[in-house]
Order: sequence, then C-alpha cells, then structure tokens
Amino acid sequence: MRVFLRNDDYQGHFSGRARHANIAFMSTGTGPARYKCAQCEQPEASCECDKFCCLCQTVIDVRICADGLMYCEPCRTACEYKTSD
Ligand SMILES: [Zn+2]
Ligand SMILES: [Zn+2]
Repeated sequence: MRVFLRNDDYQGHFSGRARHANIAFMSTGTGPARYKCAQCEQPEASCECDKFCCLCQTVIDVRICADGLMYCEPCRTACEYKTSD
C-alpha cells in the first residue's frame, strides 16, 4: 500500500519558532557602554545630579564623559571627549 504525501499539505505550515530570547543588551562587561557620574557613581542613565558642564557651566546638552565629569557638546568637541554612545 502506498502512502502519498501531498506537497500542498505543507504549504503555509511554517511554525514560528525563530524567536531568540537571548538578547542581552544589559551587559556589564567591558566597553564604553556606560560612563558613571563621578559625583554619585551612578551610570549616566541613573544619575540625578544637576547636569552642567564642568568647564563652562552651561546646562545645554550636557553628557557624562569617560572621566565621570559632565561636558557640554562644544566642550566635548573641543576636548575630543566621547559620550558613552
Ligand atoms: Zn550623578
Ligand atoms: Zn562646556
């Protein structure tokens, strides 16, 4: 007795198993991911200190740089400091 497998039985029968749940973007390893505030030692995202540039005291577009101090964009550019992203 022959069994005929009909190809069209497989059409549209792809299961959705292609999901990968191991997206580890909270890595705490090396890399310049997050700079910490020198005042509160929190990552930049958690720092609630008053943000102002340590060089010119402006409060516009201030970010924490590698040394934990805050710099505005013009000062970062002038000193070639990089933010964490
Ligand atoms: Zn802080
Ligand atoms: Zn500045």
